[in-house]
Amino acid sequence: MHTFTAIFVAALAAHLAIRLWLAGRQIAFVQAHRDAVPPGFSGVVSPVEHARAADYAAATERFERVEAVYDTLVVMGLTVGGGIAALGAWSESVAGSGVGGGTLHLLSVLAAAALLGLPFGVCRTFVLEQRFGFNRTRPGTFVADQLKGWALGLVLGGAAAAGVLWIMRTTDSWWWLAGWAAWLGFSLLVTWAWPRMIAPLFNRFSPLEDAALRERIDALLARCGFHAKAVFVMDGSRRSAHGNAYFTGLGREKRIVFFDTLLATLTPAQVESVLAHELAHFKLRHVPQRLVVGALMSLAGFALLGWLAAQDWFYAALGVPARSDSAALLLFMLAAPAFAWVVSPLLAAWSRRHEFEADAFAARHSDAGSLADALVTLYKDNATTLTPDPVYSAFHHSHPPPAARIERLVAAASTPA
Ligand SMILES: [Zn+2]
Repeated sequence: MHTFTAIFVAALAAHLAIRLWLAGRQIAFVQAHRDAVPPGFSGVVSPVEHARAADYAAATERFERVEAVYDTLVVMGLTVGGGIAALGAWSESVAGSGVGGGTLHLLSVLAAAALLGLPFGVCRTFVLEQRFGFNRTRPGTFVADQLKGWALGLVLGGAAAAGVLWIMRTTDSWWWLAGWAAWLGFSLLVTWAWPRMIAPLFNRFSPLEDAALRERIDALLARCGFHAKAVFVMDGSRRSAHGNAYFTGLGREKRIVFFDTLLATLTPAQVESVLAHELAHFKLRHVPQRLVVGALMSLAGFALLGWLAAQDWFYAALGVPARSDSAALLLFMLAAPAFAWVVSPLLAAWSRRHEFEADAFAARHSDAGSLADALVTLYKDNATTLTPDPVYSAFHHSHPPPAARIERLVAAASTPA
């Protein structure tokens, strides 16, 4: 057995063990705090709602524990189990060993992985979300979403795969630098196309019609010196009762999108404060910082891939007998997460710092009390647990625990500006 096979399997097992351990901690912690609403929330969140949020958090973790074990087995099967090698031989027999055969290889493995993951997608929507009353997706919508997603994956994934394979074939040992540049360009193109061409395939976007709310939003944007092209309402209620708001697009072409579910539950002042928080991520340069860090991490990934692709042991240790460009890409995509997870707590901590900064910005430019009220309403409606396990939260959560956010906002609301 290759040394790297042992290292890879050990890394996968360590990641799985940590996920299972954290999920177990989270289940135990929310259940231990199930019967007492935390002090700051007792006026708004009822004991019944609090207990339901605990049950939802525990059920989600139980579901994810099973999924984590299953995902690990799928990755093992595709790599050391010979799945990538078998589909590689099949693709070559169908389409040859050039860019066409390589693209077919990539698409066939990604399709196999998507098919294997489908049962979990069905259960998440129609069992887990259904049980807690969040699911509004009808089976027809679910099937249509899947088909559209697959078609999109075929077109976009196929184009990206063919592009990178062509670069690998036609440039020398520095191909990874050209591959990275092409990847960045492709990502920017998708970011640009998303609100215009892709998102409308899944949802309907209509201009915000509420004139009073629109006025409030325009006043906030003017106050903060921010340009957004348009404000849209998205029919999120077609699929789920969970509410949200986000910015999309590039540069001056940015759009603001509200889920209809969010507008239905928040007052205009609360909507304004939520928007001020989202806006802060741009004004405080969080978004460009994340883009730069993401680009640098993908550069490191491509450089590593450039080196690994030239090592025979990389293929042999991960279940592929013969070198090929498509196998290098696939093995890297499947094996990298087994090691890369070690940086996820750092990224989560960085993101939590941004969230606190965005809350403080919203408190300065909008209203801290309204944002606190909005968050409590969203926590309540989304059945977000108010008592996450601190270790679980530090590892996984991109947002600070509810109590910590509310505490700072309440403090800001009581201090005159
Ligand atoms: Zn945020």
